Amino acid sequence: MINKIGIIGAGQMGNGIAHVCALGGYDVILSDLDQSQLDKAIKTIEGNMGRQMNRGVVTEEQMSAAMSHISTVIGLDGFGDVDLAIEAASEVEDVKRAIYADLCPILKPEAIIATNTSSISVTRLAATTDRPEKFMGMHFMNPVPVMKLVELIRGIATGEDTFREVRELTIALNKQPANAEDFPAFIVNRILLPMINEAVYTLYEGVGSVEAIDISMRLGANHPMGPLQLADFIGLDTCLSVMQVLYEGLADTKYRPCPLLVKYVEAGWLGRKANRGFYDYSGEVPVPTR
Ligand code: NAD
Repeated sequence: MINKIGIIGAGQMGNGIAHVCALGGYDVILSDLDQSQLDKAIKTIEGNMGRQMNRGVVTEEQMSAAMSHISTVIGLDGFGDVDLAIEAASEVEDVKRAIYADLCPILKPEAIIATNTSSISVTRLAATTDRPEKFMGMHFMNPVPVMKLVELIRGIATGEDTFREVRELTIALNKQPANAEDFPAFIVNRILLPMINEAVYTLYEGVGSVEAIDISMRLGANHPMGPLQLADFIGLDTCLSVMQVLYEGLADTKYRPCPLLVKYVEAGWLGRKANRGFYDYSGEVPVPTR
């Protein structure tokens, strides 16, 4: 039975996961490395939930109840009584491993760990913990409060009870689960990220400008967002690491990350969260950077 949920990483995904869990009536403790990131997350949750309230999706009572369900912490104090820890920290395997090393001794033995990784092997991450049978992938989509899907990924050792509990939670959060096998990048990103990478190659080779590429895919393929706009939204560092995982995990050159994507990440132009990526977000309207 899941009552209290601990979330590690209060970035774009962590704050969204905290948002939906708190609205679902669960007690939430949200952890990050520093107070400014936690404050930013709470502000984002308030802003997003406020917009849902204005649209009549949630009532004022639901919003104030949800906000009162969320507490924040630097480090992992308060994780001793969580029933489920959802790790939504940066997409870097060493970062995730270090978190599990600190987390496992604190968690109660029956607690489940779910990772929100976009691409890293759930089986390999599970093997670094003291509870591979209580470990699985719970891959929310961005933005979490809006997107209906959660991919559920079993590692080789994930127990049936663990899977069932996480599936039930997904449904209780009003999300649609889809089962994916534990292969690099699972289903959505296996298909989506090579398309985004190809859009960056299209830009790199001068086939089209940022604007032409995005307009083409929006109006020519009926995509709600252009691929470069979407890349900025996901975060270019996350896009790059997913491509690297596909490239290394499937050993196929068709997944080679575009050098221009690498360059943007090296420049720290990580997309919306850095205020600059394929677009510059510092003004009122996003302006293409190429
Ligand atoms: P982000 O960079 O916005 O947030 C990551 C957060 O983790 C940061 O606030 C960082 O300070 C924090 N963090 C790093 N190390 C930590 C530690 N030791 N303890 C606590 N917090 C720590 O990244 P994001 O986009 O929220 O992605 C988080 C995870 O979700 C990644 O695994 C990513 O692949 C996955 N994901 C991302 C998306 C997306 O569209 N961005 C979609 C689905 C899944």
